[in-house]
Amino acid sequence: MILGSEDDDTEFVKMVESLDAKFVIDDHCTGTRYFWNEVIPADDRLAAIAVRYVDRPPCLTKDWHHRSRLQRILGFAKDWNVDGAIVIQQNFCDSHELDIPFVRRYLEEGRTKWMISFNFF
Ligand code: SF4
Repeated sequence: MILGSEDDDTEFVKMVESLDAKFVIDDHCTGTRYFWNEVIPADDRLAAIAVRYVDRPPCLTKDWHHRSRLQRILGFAKDWNVDGAIVIQQNFCDSHELDIPFVRRYLEEGRTKWMISFNFF
């Protein structure tokens, strides 16, 4: 599993997968968090699109009180039979950085075997 902020570093993904690993799911700002939920059709199409945007998994800066991300990640780890997690995040995103100890604890309790993290600019 790969976790973190906005990330378009396909070379990093290729490098990891060339080492006999496979990314099976992500929790990225530009990954599942952006694309997970769909628009539920309604007569008012614009409102339906707006609801979809409001209901999608939030940016961490908007999730600070609810902490819904931790349960979502743990669910991903179980549902996708995740062995390990890589966090790759941009340096500017303090929310992701602060979340690392909590994510690690959640994953360890969920029996994910390992987690490593990287920062990039
Ligand atoms: S502030 Fe951080 S969590 Fe929010 S969208 Fe940007 S990179 Fe993602």
